[in-house]
Amino acid sequence: MDDAEIKTKLATSARILNRLGLFDIYGHVSARIPGQERFYITATLGSTDKEFTPEGLILCDYAGRKISGNGTAPLEVVLHSALHRAREDAGSVAHVHPFHSLALGVAGVPYAPVILHVAPLGFKLPVYKRRELLITEDHGQKVVRTMAKARAMLLRGHGVITLGESIEEMTYHTVLLEENCKLLLEARKVGKPIPLSRAEVADFLRMRLPEAMSPKNQRYLRVFDLLDKKTR
Ligand SMILES: [Zn+2]
Repeated sequence: MDDAEIKTKLATSARILNRLGLFDIYGHVSARIPGQERFYITATLGSTDKEFTPEGLILCDYAGRKISGNGTAPLEVVLHSALHRAREDAGSVAHVHPFHSLALGVAGVPYAPVILHVAPLGFKLPVYKRRELLITEDHGQKVVRTMAKARAMLLRGHGVITLGESIEEMTYHTVLLEENCKLLLEARKVGKPIPLSRAEVADFLRMRLPEAMSPKNQRYLRVFDLLDKKTR
């Protein structure tokens, strides 16, 4: 994937998440440039579709320093740089503050997968408990340690971090996590939610992993395309 393609896709992802009400005014998404210790990230306080363009993206190095771009990098850029540095599978990272994921963490309700398609996020999710902005190198390291191998993490009273090998995968995980948290909270109003079992999660992954891990990642590409068209 060339530079222009990464930028177009990342801007599209930001627009999708924004249209779905997940981006809010403080959200940001990033994508690594393969083979380089650099990544693109959305500018701080981007909250309208017209701000999510390839030209509006900021180029940063692995220390989280801005290299080029017109706007300002988000205050919490270190969580992106720390994850891009530390994890091979963090090709793309999102930090957003969606309502239902936040409500779950604030209420102290444990995360549980209740939608089949959220199985790739696993049976349990780590929680970053201290409510603080993630702005120093130490914060970045704490994010990497707390998240360990997870593809998503709840930040209590703050938001979520999700990642994927590709921009499409990161977008899928971000959308599905919020859908799952919303359903989990709604279900608790009328009964006791029945989470997926460990075996169901394992079966789902075994069944769809070969496709998900294929070089072209067809499932994620199709969902991304659909979301792109739906949110234009
Ligand atoms: Zn934040």
